[in-house]
Amino acid sequence: MSIVIKGARILGGEPADILIEDGVVARIGQDLTGDETVEAAGLIALPGLVDLHTHLREPGREDAETVETGTRAAALGGYTAVHAMANTSPVADTAGVVEQVWRLGQEAGHCDVQPVGAVTEGLAGERLAELGAMADSAARVRVFSDDGKCVSDAVLMRRALEYVKAFDGVVAQHAQEPRLTAGAQMNEGAVSGRLGLTGWPAVAEEAIIARDCLLAAHVGSRLHVCHVSTAGSVEIIRWAKSKGWDVTAEVTPHHLLLTDDLVEDSPVGAYNPIYKVNPPLRTRADVEALRAALADGTIDVVATDHAPHPVEDKETEWAAAAMGMIGLETALRVVQEAMVDTGLLDWAGVAERMSYAPARIGRLAGHGRPIEAGSPANITLYDASVREEVDPGSYASKSRNTPYEGRTLPGRVVATFLRGRPTVLDGKLA
Ligand SMILES: [Zn+2]
Repeated sequence: MSIVIKGARILGGEPADILIEDGVVARIGQDLTGDETVEAAGLIALPGLVDLHTHLREPGREDAETVETGTRAAALGGYTAVHAMANTSPVADTAGVVEQVWRLGQEAGHCDVQPVGAVTEGLAGERLAELGAMADSAARVRVFSDDGKCVSDAVLMRRALEYVKAFDGVVAQHAQEPRLTAGAQMNEGAVSGRLGLTGWPAVAEEAIIARDCLLAAHVGSRLHVCHVSTAGSVEIIRWAKSKGWDVTAEVTPHHLLLTDDLVEDSPVGAYNPIYKVNPPLRTRADVEALRAALADGTIDVVATDHAPHPVEDKETEWAAAAMGMIGLETALRVVQEAMVDTGLLDWAGVAERMSYAPARIGRLAGHGRPIEAGSPANITLYDASVREEVDPGSYASKSRNTPYEGRTLPGRVVATFLRGRPTVLDGKLA
């Protein structure tokens, strides 16, 4: 069985045909033929996107998302692999749970699901979880994170960084000093002051990142910083990289586009919990610093932090509402809006930050490879020329907590191929 993708612009370059045979890119050229043809004139071909930070909620919160619905959303967003965060119920802190999540992903078949293992038992921050057993399991865990919570104990963080070296793992830190953010509701600044909401200071993120960079350098291990949200964090990571330390970082699409003043005044009113997220939306100056850092490589990756919540947890008063936003189905569109249409990144730059780098950091074999002969045929076809209103009613995710409802965004994912098999065609699940 062979498929030929006709006339796609690989990374935005000149139109070419891509011949796929047995799940692998066989040839790239002109006038190629295959058993089946997918017309792609005018479409951009990107390597299948890889998310380092997805919450699939299964096991335990299947009312918010399941592996099946979350991976459908991922495929529709152009993803061929996602890392599933460990803050499920039970927590993914044993070989048994990570293997369960990994198998559910295989059964669903919409994209590869790579489980993330918890750093500490039950995310309690007291004892290290069975990192080695998870690494040796069928799920081959390489990314470890207590995401949702910060590994705030410096000794535990040091031990985790030392431990993962044995299997080339990485600790992905949710940088949030817990005492500085007790009861925090939104970014600490002028808007929180006016609204009378407890502030979430930038220093609560920056202090942990600085400490962890120093710890990673001290023990010679790999650190990944989740969802960087402040200009100060960018400066610290830039400094750590200038020392040659093995530190990588991610930013979410929403932190590249949205600001904290939406809590005060937005198309959906004031105090709308759709904008409540961890870490919080920051200021315009932070957004500008994050965009510049993503452009110059200080921030390596765009990761969605797709965080589905059911309506009853989100459509409530601000203080009681859950933190988080869905993002898999809008990530590439938001990146086009914030980074490509602004001239900060070209499509090769997008491929690096949404496919190659996340696969490299996660040590994910078979993903994040250039579209060239011999590569696994993980390919996303994207129409960058359209602009459409965001319609959460059409989403595959079980949850609807998108902050973009009512906005227009550029772009549309037209097709996704996982090892040569279409998971999405004509913008719909294949
Ligand atoms: Zn987090």
